[in-house]
Amino acid sequence: AKISKLVALSLQDPTLGGLLPALKEYEPGQCISRTEEGPIRIPSRFTPSPYLVAKLRLYENRHRKCAPKAVKLSKNGTNSRKELGDCQFVIWIGNSGLGNRMITILSAFVYALLTDRVLLLDNTSTDIDGLFCEPFPGTSWLLPENYDYNWMNTVTWENTNRLGRLLQMSGFGNITIPSPVPNDYIFLNLMHDYDEHDRRFFCSRIQKQLKKVSLLYWRSNNYVVPGLHFDHSFHCKLDLMFPERATAFHHMARYLFRPSNSMWGMILRFRQPYLDGARRQVGLQVRILESNVTIPIVADQRARPPDLLKHRSSSYETLIPSFRDFQLLACVLEKEILPKGSSSAEDMLLSSKTRSTSVLVTSLDSAYYETLRNYYLEHPVEGTDYIGVYSPSEELYQQYGSDHDKKAWADMYLLSLSNTLVTSPRSTFGYVAQALAGVIPWFLTKIDSLETANETFQAHGPCNRGVSLEPCFHAPPALDCEGYGNGLNSSNIFSFIKPCEDVIGGIKIM
Ligand code: GDP
Repeated sequence: AKISKLVALSLQDPTLGGLLPALKEYEPGQCISRTEEGPIRIPSRFTPSPYLVAKLRLYENRHRKCAPKAVKLSKNGTNSRKELGDCQFVIWIGNSGLGNRMITILSAFVYALLTDRVLLLDNTSTDIDGLFCEPFPGTSWLLPENYDYNWMNTVTWENTNRLGRLLQMSGFGNITIPSPVPNDYIFLNLMHDYDEHDRRFFCSRIQKQLKKVSLLYWRSNNYVVPGLHFDHSFHCKLDLMFPERATAFHHMARYLFRPSNSMWGMILRFRQPYLDGARRQVGLQVRILESNVTIPIVADQRARPPDLLKHRSSSYETLIPSFRDFQLLACVLEKEILPKGSSSAEDMLLSSKTRSTSVLVTSLDSAYYETLRNYYLEHPVEGTDYIGVYSPSEELYQQYGSDHDKKAWADMYLLSLSNTLVTSPRSTFGYVAQALAGVIPWFLTKIDSLETANETFQAHGPCNRGVSLEPCFHAPPALDCEGYGNGLNSSNIFSFIKPCEDVIGGIKIM
């Protein structure tokens, strides 16, 4: 009854419980996925808080009011405060893969909500427009077209207004940014390899000082929301916005990211013929990160164990890829995510199976999909379902550019329509799918080397259930706000922020 209530809610309520603005706020036809995704997406189990809903409506008004003033930002990226009035901005600079870009847009947006700023996006490194609908009605989240991107290219480590550099220059025992800051902007470097000075971004005393700066440039490949709790006033607001703390990423992803019209067509062209009509969808994401990432792997060059299951506790293949083949299958069978092939099951009668489970496999390498598909073609299984295995794209290796981003976004979105997810540790690509789905994934156990693979596998099994819906903040700060040199361990500050299950050294909200 609870589920049918949720389904009814999603069909009737295109605002997702107030999370999205009313449909009438948007131009008709501007974002077809907004009206069409309801029936194909599993409704969220979580309701956005009234405080979050109010904050989003205030944000949308602020964005409508302030974004046009950003036209003034085009002169060398700097400005005079007079021109911007009382509007303050966070300007997101894109880098890394699409999953990384999405988690950093989301982080910068949460920061903008907390600080009453307006988020504007760099539209050169990513064709944002081609991928996503505009989330804020009646305005745009892109930097103005005449924005000086040549200038933005100087917003790197060497930039004289990098926060860490300014703090370092202020001298030992001081830790302040100059007031006023030259050109009224600061570059926040939140990349995984940022130094102890840049990490002071998470300190309350620095946040107080940043309030006076109109423009903040945000370059990051981290999901930093857990770290924002370290500022007391942010912590209080975050708790009001997300009383269920581990839903921040989920709500914000569903608020911000909707496929553009052209992406929607691409997604439906795969989903409708292959995945529609199944009783249940299982999404499997195998991220290839090792050195073989740039080497196209030809599937039939692989040696594979003749019967993958027999190899459970004996020796494994000496190739990581075929080991992973085995690992993926072992995971879905051992954890009963998919049914085991059985010699006793009979399904040669049409009447023996009345329904189907669709399995969506996304990976740069199609071999994982082929193994699984062959397994279910070759084996009858118990139960009422036929198992159909599908894979939307085969990119072979990681590539950049608009066409690849489109395939990556379609894959993430299709994965996010799953009832159950198996994803790869550390992968932001998987994080995005999990957030949109509202499903805690099973993580494939990380295998560091083939030498230790057997041992790791015996100790931890092929995969394990994640502990929360939130993603991991991969490179959190050791909080050293006073500059005494021995920072606080960020996983010991709050009881609800703990080490990640998928990344050593990372923290997450649980
Ligand atoms: P992460 O590196 O796993 O955290 O995820 P990112 O999305 O940031 O970077 C990986 C990039 O590699 C993606 O954006 C894609 O361009 C590509 N990629 C990796 N895995 C896949 C996949 O399964 N499907 C597609 N289409 N692209 C992938």
